[in-house]
Amino acid sequence: MCFRFFYAIRELWCFKAQLKHFMQAPNLQLANIQDISKPELDAHGVSILVLDYDAVLAAHGEPQPKPEIIVWLRQFSKIFAPGKIYILSNKPTTARQKFFLQNFPEVKFIIAKRKKPYPDGLLQIAVESGVTPKSLLLVDDRLGTGILATLIAGTQGLWITKPYVNIMSRPIAETWFIFLRWSEQLIIKYFL
Ligand SMILES: [Mg+2]
Repeated sequence: MCFRFFYAIRELWCFKAQLKHFMQAPNLQLANIQDISKPELDAHGVSILVLDYDAVLAAHGEPQPKPEIIVWLRQFSKIFAPGKIYILSNKPTTARQKFFLQNFPEVKFIIAKRKKPYPDGLLQIAVESGVTPKSLLLVDDRLGTGILATLIAGTQGLWITKPYVNIMSRPIAETWFIFLRWSEQLIIKYFL
């Protein structure tokens, strides 16, 4: 945990220009994963789609994706090449893995050796799927973990700007993650 924090700080500094660009460029942002466009992915040479879980598919700690995300994923996994969607979460709980195995066996749930922002998970997916990192796209709500990992690994990234939040069910965890998202934007904007 401590090593990951200092690693993230060092890499935030190294990729400060690219991270600032993520905050300014609408073409690198997405309000919700359902807004993703297949023609856009094709135009950018994306052959593997990697999805973060918390705040992208569901609010923090939820064992299952939001009902509308389940519907979207059913449709999208058919139009996007089958077997080309991966889940890369820093919390790959057994309940989540089980859900995907039972409901979306074609979607691969990756357990990375080290958590994002380490590039391990993304590089593991590139090796497993036999593509260059540049053909991978990660969709993530966190600049300091997922998006930073895309820059380190040399993959493409899309930053989710309207993350799923459920304060009522997990007030402490959600407040903490709201604070983290807010502080990393503040640090990137004003201190790097
Ligand atoms: Mg997340």
